[in-house]
Amino acid sequence: MRTIVIGGGVVGLSLAYGLLKAGQSVLVLDGSDGDFRASRGNFGLVWVQGKGSNFPDYARWTRSSANLWSGFAKELEALTDLDLSYQKTGGVEYCFSEQEMQEREAELLALREKLGGDYPFEMLSAAQLKERIPHIGPKVYGASYCPEDGHVNPLFLLRALSKAVRLSGGEIRTNIEVREIRPGDNQASILTISGERFVADRLVMAAGLGAQQLGPQLGFKAPVRPQQGQVLITEKMPHFLKYPSGTLRQVNEGGIQIGASKAEVGLDDHEDVLTTASLAAHASDVFPMLGNAKIVRSWAALRVMSPDGYPIYQRSPKHHYAWFVTCHSGITLAAAHCELLPRWIMGKNDAPDLSSFSEARF
Ligand SMILES: Cc1cc2nc3c(=O)[nH]c(=O)nc-3n(C[C@H](O)[C@H](O)[C@H](O)COP(=O)(O)OP(=O)(O)OC[C@H]3O[C@@H](n4cnc5c(N)ncnc54)[C@H](O)[C@@H]3O)c2cc1C
Repeated sequence: MRTIVIGGGVVGLSLAYGLLKAGQSVLVLDGSDGDFRASRGNFGLVWVQGKGSNFPDYARWTRSSANLWSGFAKELEALTDLDLSYQKTGGVEYCFSEQEMQEREAELLALREKLGGDYPFEMLSAAQLKERIPHIGPKVYGASYCPEDGHVNPLFLLRALSKAVRLSGGEIRTNIEVREIRPGDNQASILTISGERFVADRLVMAAGLGAQQLGPQLGFKAPVRPQQGQVLITEKMPHFLKYPSGTLRQVNEGGIQIGASKAEVGLDDHEDVLTTASLAAHASDVFPMLGNAKIVRSWAALRVMSPDGYPIYQRSPKHHYAWFVTCHSGITLAAAHCELLPRWIMGKNDAPDLSSFSEARF
């Protein structure tokens, strides 16, 4: 039985590698550099803190992935000989007023209660924060801290996954644009823009924003939309920032990455100066020393968002051999997508229960 995964971003490749480890035969069909590709423009956080405040199943799923991440990274590094620079240091979210601190604490306490008390975090005063991060500026009132947060080099993750798929016997075809899917009773025919045809016994739609157009051909709603995020990176600096936050992290090479904005601007991945300026201003509010740092690169990329922002895991209601997978935190969820999701696709007894992530909620 051959599984075809459409989409070779971090979601498609994590799943493809997991399926290969489970003994499946896998072909990945991936588009080209002209496509919108969130996996090549993201912030690189493996993030738990605050995720799923209104959706405890998502909080649990995120944590299960974060808990698998160390083993997942070690295994990928050993197999591919690439350094992912994954670090689970714990992460902080900065607060700029007492009110913000109180609101953050209330949100995390409520989440802890929904999860039956098992949800580690602490609130750090400005003085406690300064002990951990001495360069913090006077505008920061305090922070929340979660020991389960971490970060990774997302481009090396992508590269490692692609190498791991190939080393495990999978095939990745690039510059393939799937134009049409013709579903049959037990197989689907996949037609590409260049006239090639592939036949899938099992098909996983992991085409990011491309699923908008392809998903309905397999009976999925595939209600994904783009959300733009802009990111900046400074020149390399001596290492001073051990803890990543949702807006600032020091990457393994030394640059400070600043981001990411959120804008509903459709399929537009161009940066704009106003957003760049506001990201830079935030960075120097947290670390005044960054006021003198040079920005060496900036970019915008499009998130793949479902209507409520949570993942969608859906087996086609019309075609039993087709699955749809999408999420807006594909870096964080990469370990779960590799280690747990294949069991769900293969219908194993120990598959995770993903029913609350179905499209039926829309
Ligand atoms: C600015 C920004 C910051 C982010 N920060 C984080 C973060 O810190 N942590 C985190 O966990 N997540 C983060 N994310 C989200 C994360 O990047 C995405 O969840 C993830 O990359 C989605 O991967 P994907 O494989 O679904 O989509 P993509 O990476 O978009 O991949 C889809 C693939 O499908 C292919 N494709 C599309 N259409 C077709 C077609 N017709 N035929 C063949 N192939 C096709 C494309 O070529 C592409 O390679 C961020 C995203 C952005 C934009």
